[in-house]
Amino acid sequence: MAVSDTPAGADATSAPAGSSARAARPARRPRGEGQWALGHREPLNPNERTKKDDNPLNVRARIENIYAHRGFASIDPQDLRGRFRWWGLYTQRKAGIDGGRTAVLEPHELEDEYFMLRVRIDGGQLSLEQLRTIAEVSQRYARDTADITDRQNIQLHWIRVEDMPEIWRRLEAVGLQTTEACGDCPRIVLGSPVAGVAEDEKLDPTPAIDEIVRRYVGDPQYSNLPRKFKSSISWLADTPYEVNDISFLGVEHPEHGLGFDLWVGGGLSTNPMLAQRLGVWVPLDEVPDVWAGVVGIFRDYGYRRLRHRARLKFLVADWGVAKFREVLEKEYLGRSLLDGPAPELPAKPIDHIGVHRQRDGRHYVGAAPVVGRISGTQLAELADAAAEHGSGRVSLTPYQKLLVLDVPAERTDSLVAALRRIGLEAFPSVWRRDTMACTGLEYCKLAIVETKARGQELVARLEERLAGADLGEGLSIHLNGCPNACARTQTADIGLKGQLVVGPDGRQVEGFQVHLGGGLGMAQGQSAGFGRKLRGLKTTAAELPEYVERLTRRYLDGRTEGE
Ligand code: SF4
Repeated sequence: MAVSDTPAGADATSAPAGSSARAARPARRPRGEGQWALGHREPLNPNERTKKDDNPLNVRARIENIYAHRGFASIDPQDLRGRFRWWGLYTQRKAGIDGGRTAVLEPHELEDEYFMLRVRIDGGQLSLEQLRTIAEVSQRYARDTADITDRQNIQLHWIRVEDMPEIWRRLEAVGLQTTEACGDCPRIVLGSPVAGVAEDEKLDPTPAIDEIVRRYVGDPQYSNLPRKFKSSISWLADTPYEVNDISFLGVEHPEHGLGFDLWVGGGLSTNPMLAQRLGVWVPLDEVPDVWAGVVGIFRDYGYRRLRHRARLKFLVADWGVAKFREVLEKEYLGRSLLDGPAPELPAKPIDHIGVHRQRDGRHYVGAAPVVGRISGTQLAELADAAAEHGSGRVSLTPYQKLLVLDVPAERTDSLVAALRRIGLEAFPSVWRRDTMACTGLEYCKLAIVETKARGQELVARLEERLAGADLGEGLSIHLNGCPNACARTQTADIGLKGQLVVGPDGRQVEGFQVHLGGGLGMAQGQSAGFGRKLRGLKTTAAELPEYVERLTRRYLDGRTEGE
């Protein structure tokens, strides 16, 4: 690959023409950020060292041949806390360790001998056979746990390394995988949960998602990236496309027809940035190549020195979209891309809850668990309910919800009732519909605050106290157990970032920093934006329901016409 470019940030160190004072100083060598394309191949931190010492994908063989037989204690620490993630495995937080000790304990003191296992469901769609398999794995190997994540994965808990060979055998027998579900590699590709059936979808991008997964997931060429790489490919703007490393969004070109608009460089966590349009139009059959080109840029030019600067968004921010497009075209595709128009964007995120007509005349039913928490038992019951109502598949949404697809019109009422009996609500309250929570203190080693149970309690209390409130378009609440923003803190009307706060008796307790007024999926003419973090806006976790109630009442009292 050509190595012809200046390093990111190098421009900032060159003296402008005519600046004699600066010209007199010897030019400062730009500090490398570990970009492979600029010759920095020696690992600059322990994570990079782990990846260089052995491709993380190789750990699968060790799990099957060694660790599953010899047990947890036999696992090499570099595999345990590093390479296992490439197969969807994280060590689980030990029960009973409060959030105040997260930052002071060593990793081995925080973890127990069980794992969280993420099953990737690219595009979000599952056959009933796949759904039943996940349900069985959950019931048999994961103590009946299952969370729908906000990236269309299903996450299981309490997994033992001894059971992994059998779990993989079962999952892979029905076409599911955990390959690169975590780690510094291409994670799950988000897709529209109604791809192929939505009335207002003009082009189904599923073939491109399938091709990317077939070609590149598990490919060692793309398995050592600077950090995680998040993708979204959808005709409809029904995924959080603005906060992915790469997004393809449906658009109609006036001359060339249906295709996709390309966005790069979105991401949240502690330094949130919205993705930017490259201004190009990509036809469906070129999406996999263009996707691989962007991943290639990230692999080769991405920053590897500091973990907190290693996401693609920093490179895009430093280069700007014009340079990014030029490098993509010249060095990775060997051709120019066509200029393209901007897509039309909806006024608010589309979550597909309720009963909706498909373009083939059948219907889909979108239903809400509470904050994505479900169980293997419920998943098995869901498969039965779907089958009894003429459906052969379900899909998961990036809002921790699920859909039953292909339901005959005359069966939808009965299905709604059946889903309600298993704890899934097709006509939920605004609170249940719009509240999401990350994994939190129950299982996550990085957490400071419990989130799932608090989210469930919050929804129940708000449903009780604000039952009749007219919230119009809804009110999104995202609970996060730490600053990492896995449940997209900054994109909610009320974003909650877990941290320690001062309690009523002056001691530190679990609480949240509050971000207000974030939003994605904005119509053209408006702009998507992040919620504002206001220094004084904090609440203890125990007072959260009262806090949100007060905030909502104040908003309802003070809102202006049309707000
Ligand atoms: Fe864990 Fe923090 Fe992510 Fe929540 S936001 S899942 S606590 S890392």
